[in-house]
Amino acid sequence: MAELIDPFNRRIKYLRVSVTDKCNYRCGYCMPPEGVHPEGRHTEYLDADEIERIVRAFAELGVRKIRLTGGEPLIRKDLPQIVRRIGRIDGIIDLALSTNAHHLARHARQLAEDGLDRINVSLDSLKPERFAAITRGGDLNKVLGGIEAAQRAGLNPVKINMVVMKGTNDDEIEAMVDFARTQGVEVRFIETMPIGPAGISVMDQHYPAEQILKRVRAHVGDELIPLASRSHDGPARNFRIGDSDTKIGVISAVSQHFCETCNRVRLTARGVLALCLGQEDSVNLRDPLREGISDEALKVLIVDAIKKKPERHHFNENIHNIEFRQMVNLGG
Ligand code: SAM
Ligand code: SF4
Repeated sequence: MAELIDPFNRRIKYLRVSVTDKCNYRCGYCMPPEGVHPEGRHTEYLDADEIERIVRAFAELGVRKIRLTGGEPLIRKDLPQIVRRIGRIDGIIDLALSTNAHHLARHARQLAEDGLDRINVSLDSLKPERFAAITRGGDLNKVLGGIEAAQRAGLNPVKINMVVMKGTNDDEIEAMVDFARTQGVEVRFIETMPIGPAGISVMDQHYPAEQILKRVRAHVGDELIPLASRSHDGPARNFRIGDSDTKIGVISAVSQHFCETCNRVRLTARGVLALCLGQEDSVNLRDPLREGISDEALKVLIVDAIKKKPERHHFNENIHNIEFRQMVNLGG
């Protein structure tokens, strides 16, 4: 069977699929206050059939892991249908969802039954007012209810992603570690990345992963035992706290890059295959699909696209030159 191997000998096993670039929240590092593409026409987005066809082609080319992301995937009414269809594709052994969890409580059980394996929830603060300010209107109670529902539905693990921002929520690192311990979830602390509407200015709030780890160590008064990295970990480094079951991680896409082991590509909600989060290289799959491309020709198009995957991002070196793109377009 054909495999997806890029020019730097990396095997592509992981596809992140953005199902929408819209969101009901407006986190400052991710969305402009007015949201994105309010006029976006429905037909610009891949429909469930098109997403299924593209994922099937990737599965036949050796991709094993899919993450549905956005924007906010749960605002798409046909998300359960998309999950069901992908869950049935041969070869896909790991189906995950990234969500803000606002609408999760009423969907978690159904999604788990439809084949969703695990879930990542964005949660930058445990203080209701601060949470509402960071997300520009988010409801912390709904998110906490969504996390509990996901656990009850058997989605495992539930991972919490906290973007740590200096002067905004960095005083909650310890509280988030305690939350992980009491709720039985994993927490991953994310460095802000220079993408999104605020562009380079978010880097004023950059809080380095090494400092986060120092704070966590001091707080737990115990060792952080590094866990062997898994193929889908990407830029995440994961640890177990002492001899407990609690796991924490840091994602440092900026201060350390892990491009040499990058095994992922991204599909935007409008059907563009983006080959690197930090570079512009991309290939349109939607238009050929709508012009009637065969399954075999679609696979050839994907194999050729992977040949364009750049060696690495340049967040560090080019930090002032990067053409900032929105995470929501690329499916964070
Ligand atoms: N709406 C879902 C959510 O919030 O989890 C899925 C999409 S969101 C774009 C995916 C992840 O990207 C979130 O964990 C979010 O915190 C992260 N993200 C967005 N912009 C970022 C930035 N500039 N730096 C670091 N992380 C960012
Ligand atoms: Fe929405 Fe997620 Fe972006 Fe926040 S990070 S605005 S929840 S897409």
